[in-house]
Amino acid sequence: MSTSETTRSEALFARAREVMPGGVSSPVRAFGSVGGTPRFIDRADGPYLWDADGNRLIDLYGSWGPMLLGHRHPHVIAALSAALEKGTSFGAPTGRETELIERILERVHGADRVRLVNSGTEATMSALRLARGATGRAKIVKFAGHYHGHADGLLVAAGSGAATTGVPSSAGVPEAVAGLTLVAPWNDAAALEALMGEHGDDVAAVILEPVAGNMGVVEAEPGFLERVRVLTREHGALLVVDEVMTGFRLARGGAVERLGLDPDLTCWGKIVGGGLPVGAYGGRAELMEHVSPSGKVYQAGTLSGNPLAMAAGIATFEAIDATPDLYLALESRGTRLAEGLRQGAAEAGVSVRVNQIGSMVTVFFTEERVIDFASAARADGAAFARWFQALLRLGVAWPPSAFEAAFLGYALNDELIDEVVAAAATAFGEVAGSG
Ligand SMILES: *Cc1c(COP(=O)(O)O)cnc(C)c1O
Repeated sequence: MSTSETTRSEALFARAREVMPGGVSSPVRAFGSVGGTPRFIDRADGPYLWDADGNRLIDLYGSWGPMLLGHRHPHVIAALSAALEKGTSFGAPTGRETELIERILERVHGADRVRLVNSGTEATMSALRLARGATGRAKIVKFAGHYHGHADGLLVAAGSGAATTGVPSSAGVPEAVAGLTLVAPWNDAAALEALMGEHGDDVAAVILEPVAGNMGVVEAEPGFLERVRVLTREHGALLVVDEVMTGFRLARGGAVERLGLDPDLTCWGKIVGGGLPVGAYGGRAELMEHVSPSGKVYQAGTLSGNPLAMAAGIATFEAIDATPDLYLALESRGTRLAEGLRQGAAEAGVSVRVNQIGSMVTVFFTEERVIDFASAARADGAAFARWFQALLRLGVAWPPSAFEAAFLGYALNDELIDEVVAAAATAFGEVAGSG
C-alpha cells in the first residue's frame, strides 16, 4: 500500500500558510522536524484516518491522547447527537458537569472537588495559581523535558543536567516570570534535594508528568516519585501531578493509581473530553475551596463545562466502563508493538530504544537508555525522520516528532498492530540502507 499521493494536502497546506502562522493551529502538526507536507485530515473512523487525498492511514496520533477508544465510538457519537438537539452552550450550570466530575472522582485518588476548564494548558495554569494562592509562595519546580501546556511560567526548560533557575524556552516569556520556575533534571533525586534545600521555603508546588510523555516516553526510575513526594512534604510544597496525557490511559485511575501516587492537586485533559476540548483540575476540598467563588483564587471560563464536551466526556467514561478488557488489551497491544519494533530494528541492524508503558510508545534512535531530557535529546532525529517518512508512505501515521509518544486506542487490534510492525520493519530497513 502506498499513500504518497499528497497533492490535495499540499494545496491545503499552501493555502493555510497564507492565513495561519506555519499553516497550522499547533506547531508539531506542521511536520517541522520531519520535513515534507503534513497530511490534512478529512475524516476518521475507528483506528483509521483518511487524508484529503483519500489515503487511509493507521492512526497512532490518537489525536495526541484523547482517542483512547478510537474514532467515532458509536456511544460517544450518539451522546453528542443527542446533546446537539438540546443546544450548544448556555453559560449557566448543567447537571452534566456534576455527572462528568462524579465519573472522574470515582476513578481517582486524592481528590473530592474538581473544576472544569477547556484545555490541559488551562488546567495546569490554574492548578499552579491555586497552589500559589493556598501556600502564599511564588516559586514552582518543574522537570526538564516535561510539558505542561503553554502558560508563560511553564515554557521553561533547563539548559543541561544541573538544576538551574529557569530560562524561557519561548520568546515573549519575561525573565521575571521564567525566574519563578526552577527546573530540575528528571530522575535525579539528589539534584531535586539540593534545589529544595536552597529554595524549598519559597516553592509553592512541584509539578510533574507521572510518566514523562512529551520528550518521548520516559518513566520515573524506581523510588524517584516517592522521593519527590517526601521532599515536597518536608518543604511544605504541594505536589501537582499532571495527568493530562496519562489520566484514564495508563489505568482506570490513571498513572496515580498505577504508580501509587498521592498528589495534592491533579490535572486532567485529553481523554476527559472524549475528543472535545475539556480540561480539569482537582484535589481535596480544603485546598480546592480556595478557588473562586468559594475562595480568593480567581479562575473562570465562558465555555467551561460546555454541554457538548460534557456529553462526549461522560459517554467516553461510560464506554470505558462498558469495555472490561480495555486496559488489559491496551497493555498487551502496547507490549506487542514495542517488542515488534525492537525486533524489526534489530533485524535491520538499527540501534533503537523503545520506551513503552501501556498504550504509550516512543522509538528513540539511540543505543543508550533514555532516562531524562539529556539522553532523549541525544537520539538521532534525522534517522527518526527517515523512519517516519517511510512509515507514512506505507500507510501508518506515526506522530511527526522524535520526542512524542504514539498513542494506541482500543480500535487498534492485534492484526493492525502487526501491520504497523511489518511497515516499521520495512522502514527500519530504509533507515539502515540510507544510514
Ligand atoms: C497535552 C498536555 C498538556 C496541554 O494540554 P492542552 O490541552 O494541549 O493545552 C499539558 N500537560 C501534559 C502532560 C500534556 O500531555
